Amino acid sequence: MDRIYNFSAGPSMLPVEVLKKASKEMLNYNNTGMSVMEMSHRSKVYGEIIKETESRFRKMMGIPDNYKILFLQGGATLQFSMVPMNLLTKSGMADYVITGNFSKKAYEEATKYGKINIAGSTKNENFSRIPTQKELNLDINADYLHLCTNNTIYGTTWKYIPKTGSVPIVADMSSCILSEPVDVSKYGLIYAGAQKNMGPAGLTVVIIREDLAGKTLPGTPVMLDYSIQIKNESMYNTPPTYGIYILKLVLEWLEDLGGLEGMKEINKNKANLLYSYLEESKLFKSTVSKDDRSMMNVTFITGDADLDSKFAKEAESKGFANVKGHRAVGGMRASIYNAMPTEGVEALVEFMKEFEMKNR
Ligand SMILES: *Cc1c(COP(=O)(O)O)cnc(C)c1O
Repeated sequence: MDRIYNFSAGPSMLPVEVLKKASKEMLNYNNTGMSVMEMSHRSKVYGEIIKETESRFRKMMGIPDNYKILFLQGGATLQFSMVPMNLLTKSGMADYVITGNFSKKAYEEATKYGKINIAGSTKNENFSRIPTQKELNLDINADYLHLCTNNTIYGTTWKYIPKTGSVPIVADMSSCILSEPVDVSKYGLIYAGAQKNMGPAGLTVVIIREDLAGKTLPGTPVMLDYSIQIKNESMYNTPPTYGIYILKLVLEWLEDLGGLEGMKEINKNKANLLYSYLEESKLFKSTVSKDDRSMMNVTFITGDADLDSKFAKEAESKGFANVKGHRAVGGMRASIYNAMPTEGVEALVEFMKEFEMKNR
């Protein structure tokens, strides 16, 4: 069987070139006679892999020297705890903006560790848009402001970076990291699980401004202390070695596409193919506000739940996998991360047009 177009929200597609290179190097990496999975993380060869991943990542995202890059485990979800344990250490207060399922979970977790203010929420509109700067209720004494820049389930994206004065912004970028350029200097901390745009599940990347690490709440486990992870260069214990290696291959692939500027053009074009069809369609429509729609997760409905199910089922049988929407939104969701080829989106739009003709 050939490869199919997998629109899964995560884990999701990886570039074929990356999978091929990994398979070529599977049994014998660079004349070591072993797979990367079988290597000591303390070996010289592996040391080169992790160092190269770090430097390619830093270059790709333009990460300033006063930021550290960490390769951790526990998913983005563990960062929901690790962030407050390390950063709620001055006033003990933080602002959280709730724009969907993951930012809500992050908020709930943080409430265990300090006084957490909901600085904005679009729950009343089923998270179909992002609050404007004016709608945010920010506290100048907050230790940080937390937001989720791309809402994987609802299909919205922050198109602006809120002005917070000197309050650092902590951003969950799990479902949009490496999809377009980001001004890292505008953030205090960025985190992302790997399984959407970076590699296999099991690796979490954290980018942290150095001065934010160093203090922790009493009782913080050693593994959850950013300063320990920084001091040990992500090797306090065994890091997710294979995931880091795949990330290196993904970064090489991105470099060949022209880096994040090149990737952004491709992603913009892919998203436009879907959104412009959704605008002209009489059957399907987008579920989110036009100004805030995501380039990565495109959510849409017919307005008829039975027809939505029929669509998802027929799509699956035609080789478009995982287009069923999350239960919180219903309808459909096409996750079109970096590795989804343009042809995959073109084919999906063709299929949607045919479905519309037959079901109007
Ligand atoms: C997928 C996702 C998460 C959860 O990631 P895990 O790695 O499963 O913990 C959190 N936030 C966002 C925005 C996501 O897309």
